[in-house]
Amino acid sequence: MYVDSHTHLLRLERPPGEAVRMAREAGVGAVVNIGTDVEDSRRGAELVTALPGVYSAAGIHPQNAGNYTAEDLEALAELLEEPGIVALGEVGLDYYREYWSKEVQQALFEDVISLANDTRIPLIIHNREAFDDTMGCLSRARVPVVLHCFEGGEREIREAGERGYYIGLAGNVTFRKSVTAGFLHLIDPGRLLIETDAPYLSPEPVRGTRNEPKNVVYTARFIAERLGMKPEELGRMTARNARDVFGLPLEV
Ligand SMILES: [Zn+2]
Repeated sequence: MYVDSHTHLLRLERPPGEAVRMAREAGVGAVVNIGTDVEDSRRGAELVTALPGVYSAAGIHPQNAGNYTAEDLEALAELLEEPGIVALGEVGLDYYREYWSKEVQQALFEDVISLANDTRIPLIIHNREAFDDTMGCLSRARVPVVLHCFEGGEREIREAGERGYYIGLAGNVTFRKSVTAGFLHLIDPGRLLIETDAPYLSPEPVRGTRNEPKNVVYTARFIAERLGMKPEELGRMTARNARDVFGLPLEV
């Protein structure tokens, strides 16, 4: 069984139910849907009750950092109480696009880390060109941490490993220029997750198409080959890791 540990079901071309069914046919037994603002997270919570095998995270993406209010944080806190909400995310820092200043992004990030600590829910982290500041803020986190769409090399993998963070690999690890692909053997197998980040970042060989949860199987194949494993083995291993970090009721 495979688990797509990071996907945006509400942004796909096809209806979420259809995408989830197709994923299941491809061997993807569970999908973690990700929230990028309060409204998106609320709709994600509704998907959990409507679709078996779907779990959700509630969060505010750094690209929405400038718009958040105290009420949003309260709304997030309430959402975290809902059944099937398994993480706080995605949250973090994005210095690549920098829609908002670093200070504004960091203020939100600090607030949601406190919220995660108070509610003891894992954090799903978006970091783009902000690794050191992200790790700096996260030194206060007292909950499990997932570095989603991980893009680092040797140093970043080692630092994440020292802290016991989970590393989520998306389709971009299959791209020829991926730095991470050269250091896969350094990642703790007990901390490895696979994801699509659909509708973005379609893996090879479907790169360039609109991504969907079923494509996590291609990323699994790529990583498995590099690690000398069978894809199903890697699927089971990463599904167990997803089960453990998010508390998913899966039999794997
Ligand atoms: Zn995402």
